Amino acid sequence: MAGGRADDEEAAVADCLFCGIVAKEIPATVVGETDLTLAFRDINPQAPTHVLVTTKAHHEDVGSLASADAEALAALLRECRRVAEADGIGDAYRVVFNTGAGAGQSVFHVHAHVLGGRGLGWPPG
Ligand code: AMP
Repeated sequence: MAGGRADDEEAAVADCLFCGIVAKEIPATVVGETDLTLAFRDINPQAPTHVLVTTKAHHEDVGSLASADAEALAALLRECRRVAEADGIGDAYRVVFNTGAGAGQSVFHVHAHVLGGRGLGWPPG
């Protein structure tokens, strides 16, 4: 039957920018790849280090990922630390998951922002 949940998911993946980057159909500056994750530099960096770490599989946000695949979530978080250490900011960095349009999420394929290399204020804006 057309129009079901599987169809909706297929459409979401087909339209997804980060699925395109994972598939290497859309160029990106990749800084790390594992079986489960891909890390690449943000096209509009907000700090000297601004890397996005995403899962290769499509999940809408971090909560959906946590419910669906704890192993991939752990792999994503490990990769955040590796990326920060590789950029020399392992002692001071921030990991952000914007969740929902109201919180600034604009790409609905889970990704952590790894930010650092400058002072990071608190509370965040
Ligand atoms: P968010 O708004 O939290 O969903 O984060 C999406 C991020 O993706 C933003 O920081 C954008 O600058 C970044 N972005 C959008 N398009 C690209 C792209 N083609 N390559 C790398 N980063 C991108």
